[in-house]
Amino acid sequence: MIRFGDVKNMGKEGKTDDLMEKIVALCKRRGFIFQSSEIYGGINGFWDYGPLGVELKRNLKNIWWEDVVRKRDDIVGLDAAIIMNPKVWEASGHVGGFSDPRVDCKECNARYRLDELPTRVRVEAVIDEMTNGTMTVEEAVDALTGGNGDHFLRILKKAHKKRTNPSDVIEILFGKCPQCGGELTDARQFNLMLKTFIGAMEDSSSVAYLRPETAQGIFANYKNVLDTSRIRPPFGIAQIGKAFRNEINPRNFTFRSREFEQMEIEFFCHKDDADKWYEYWRDARYKWYIDLGLTSSRLRLRDHETDELAHYAKSCADIEYDFPFGISELEGVANRTDYDLKKHQEHSGKDMQFFDDQTKERYIPHVIEPSGGVDRAVLAFICEAYTEDEAPDDKGKMQKRILMKFHPRLAPIKVAVFPLVKKEGMPEVARKIYDDVLASGLTCFYDEKGAIGRRYRRQDEAGTPFCVTVDGQTFEDQTVTIRDRDSLKQDRIAVEKVVEYVRERIG
Ligand code: ATP
Repeated sequence: MIRFGDVKNMGKEGKTDDLMEKIVALCKRRGFIFQSSEIYGGINGFWDYGPLGVELKRNLKNIWWEDVVRKRDDIVGLDAAIIMNPKVWEASGHVGGFSDPRVDCKECNARYRLDELPTRVRVEAVIDEMTNGTMTVEEAVDALTGGNGDHFLRILKKAHKKRTNPSDVIEILFGKCPQCGGELTDARQFNLMLKTFIGAMEDSSSVAYLRPETAQGIFANYKNVLDTSRIRPPFGIAQIGKAFRNEINPRNFTFRSREFEQMEIEFFCHKDDADKWYEYWRDARYKWYIDLGLTSSRLRLRDHETDELAHYAKSCADIEYDFPFGISELEGVANRTDYDLKKHQEHSGKDMQFFDDQTKERYIPHVIEPSGGVDRAVLAFICEAYTEDEAPDDKGKMQKRILMKFHPRLAPIKVAVFPLVKKEGMPEVARKIYDDVLASGLTCFYDEKGAIGRRYRRQDEAGTPFCVTVDGQTFEDQTVTIRDRDSLKQDRIAVEKVVEYVRERIG
């Protein structure tokens, strides 16, 4: 059995391999994720969710909302506008500072984030490994460029063959375009916010931004929420919504997109309790992913080093996942202190303090922020679910099969219903079961076309945990078979027990 975790990774986001290609192909073939505007050649950094993908994504968002808003009495929800007064982004520092240094190739116009080009120390280390024989030339190129460096590959192959002095190789490679070898421009700042204009005039007074994060909508409404709901610190405001970033180099499928969704909580508390709440949220959010099916061996909770912390953050941890293209961030949990509310108080002139009528203390709350990406989480669950194994076909011969082992709560379709054959009254009985399952609120799929084995396999690829089949025996004792996607085990149960059986196992 192949699960993607067996595939060797090359560290940070960058390397893709066959497995990622298989996952992307399955997503398209089965209607999970399509390239946006594909009929016009697509548009870089934008993706559409198809019929199965939208169910998966919606399940994920609903579970998050249930867990962090509905099941708690200390968090309320919000749905703020995507476009806000541009002064919000001045206060938050995004207009001045939300930028990545970028470098362009003068020859082929390839664009790189400065931090994705290898440093001199990295080039030296990799060439050392290559010279010692602990890395092949191809691995060296992957390690330096994430597999996207034709020029580096040519140079390193030649150097390897001719045994060129490593310091000479470094001089040839360093500061050059990994793809074509062209000269690179100096690093330039590049603001990641997408701009638009509001109203009829397109001038500087009508500039607005598509929000690069949902968090600021929460900070801007903090007072409104405090004044209108009977909630007081410690309390949180949660929001799910679209965010936009003009990423210099969108890549790794949906992982780094220009339009994506975030699920964010801003949790407001007294500064004396901030460390406690930070630890609480860091551990709770990490566990949330494990409970939904990400295995702990591929999930990592990484505390930031002091020199990695943003200037406003007191502590920060990343929840990271070992994707086929490397270990990368799913969610960040940060103690942002009172930085954001203070900035908004300064810029808006509005009082952001909370008055505690019991202790008579007036203070600006400190904020713990668990900030996750919906699309990155969906991609992690897709990668985790992707499995290849063998299962018997209609004639009992073992055949390769691909299955998506989604946690049943996440699975887009919970139940599929089939008549064994399309005659002898079986379709009518199966249709009736299908209607009953749908009426119970579970997603269900009816299929009567083709060999039964093929129908099972289609559902395996869609990640459907249970397949119900009506056969000859159904007419004798009102039972059906119910097949488990992962174990292939088939139980015989009474027709009227189907919904109950599935509900018990969805959790
Ligand atoms: P990265 O370092 O990967 O660019 P970040 O640290 O800038 O991410 P945050 O600003 O902390 O990300 O955003 C919170 C979450 O939003 C991230 O953990 C991620 O899940 C999601 N996110 C951020 N940028 C993107 C993107 N371009 N595409 C998809 N999801 C994103």
